[in-house]
Amino acid sequence: MSESSKKSWSKPSLTPHRMGALNKFGSMHGYHYQDKFEGVSIAELLAKYGSPLFVISEQRLRDNVRKLLRAFETRYGNVTYAWSYKTNYLGAVCNTLHQEGAWAEVVSAFEYEKARQLGVPAEKILFNGPHKERPILERVVAEGGRIHLDHLDELYLLESIARDANKQVNVTMRLNFDTGYTEPWSRFGFNIESGKAMDAARLLGQSSHLNLCGLHSHMGTFILDPRAYAAQVRIMCAFMDQAELATGCRIDSIDIGGGFASMNALQGSYLPPEQLVPSFDQYAEAICTALNDSTRERDLKGRARPRLIMESGRSVVDDAEVLISSVVGNKHMLDGRRSLVLDAGVNLLFTAFWYNHQVTPTRLLEGVAEDTVLYGPLCMNIDVMRTSVMLPPLNVGDSLIFSPVGAYNNTQWMQFIEYRPNVVMVHADQQLSVVRKAENLDVMIAQESIPAHLTSVKSKG
Ligand SMILES: *Cc1c(COP(=O)(O)O)cnc(C)c1O
Repeated sequence: MSESSKKSWSKPSLTPHRMGALNKFGSMHGYHYQDKFEGVSIAELLAKYGSPLFVISEQRLRDNVRKLLRAFETRYGNVTYAWSYKTNYLGAVCNTLHQEGAWAEVVSAFEYEKARQLGVPAEKILFNGPHKERPILERVVAEGGRIHLDHLDELYLLESIARDANKQVNVTMRLNFDTGYTEPWSRFGFNIESGKAMDAARLLGQSSHLNLCGLHSHMGTFILDPRAYAAQVRIMCAFMDQAELATGCRIDSIDIGGGFASMNALQGSYLPPEQLVPSFDQYAEAICTALNDSTRERDLKGRARPRLIMESGRSVVDDAEVLISSVVGNKHMLDGRRSLVLDAGVNLLFTAFWYNHQVTPTRLLEGVAEDTVLYGPLCMNIDVMRTSVMLPPLNVGDSLIFSPVGAYNNTQWMQFIEYRPNVVMVHADQQLSVVRKAENLDVMIAQESIPAHLTSVKSKG
């Protein structure tokens, strides 16, 4: 190439493309909307119960758990499902799932007490978590709940409780290990690779009051690759065989925890959830194939295959609940973007920090869709429901549906600045019940007391 044929260099320039503005494809029209949830009019729901409003579908919950169980029972047979309370511990949600046969999976004294109060028998409660103190452990031992050991100090504490109560206590060990597919959570349970898990199993083997009879691991959450579970099951089954050999114990259950992804869009993921999230059948195929392979030997030797326990939270409840929120104001940001102020923020939708929820208008909107920021009502900069979503103009009083919101919002919501609103459940016949009443000032101050010298607001002098 000769010197003269080279083009002279010029500085590149970038011209921002304004989303939604008219371009060669025309503008977006006929924006998708949804004016009913489970057959019930959104306008009617808001008129009756106020805005914002959480709405749960009883039927969707039942369908989800049935689908999950069918996927696993047809492939393995001996399957137990335990509902993860921290994912959504509204009583109506828990009991819907308990009616479908779910046990309870709890991680604190409060959650254990709640499950017992709802009527779950202790032997159907799996007690996980790193924080279990003597009083609650004494109760669980007395009632016959299933304790999942997290660390050695807990093992020693439980040993002393069992000795004092002169009881034999069956325990499950929580394990952690590297499957090669997810970031290992080494802070929970006993680690396999370092030998700590086998050391703990040996201690249990020598204990005169504790019997090791189950293995548990919960690898993480929103795990999109079913192969992670196949690896998990193989590692747990290998540990089961070794532990039985080394300690003489008999393991009767393998608990794979939760973590199946729900139909939600993790921020930063490129593909939509419909293309990313495996079905229950895909998870079940990977897990049950690994489990059947790993336990075939036991079958041949005439020893029982372990029960498979699952603790899926988000994949069962997430799409069974929506949050309806109303527009209280319109603003234009300095960069030209449109923004809306809504009556629900991250105080109610805690998961907005990690997920781009689907945002759907509740009536047919006219006008050009534009890149819009959705702000909540809090006087706090981080209160952003969505940093960017294409929406036509909305008026004050228009409402939007956020979905799916069933997982980790009714438990992680924050009491901050605003009252928490009504939570309503739609039943199969489209009957409605309030399953958690909106808060008011009396609820907010119920736990407070004001010392006598502070009861008057009159200033001195
Ligand atoms: C949180 C949790 C679950 C449920 O997890 P999901 O990701 O919601 O399925 C199950 N088991 C344990 C021990 C947990 O801590």
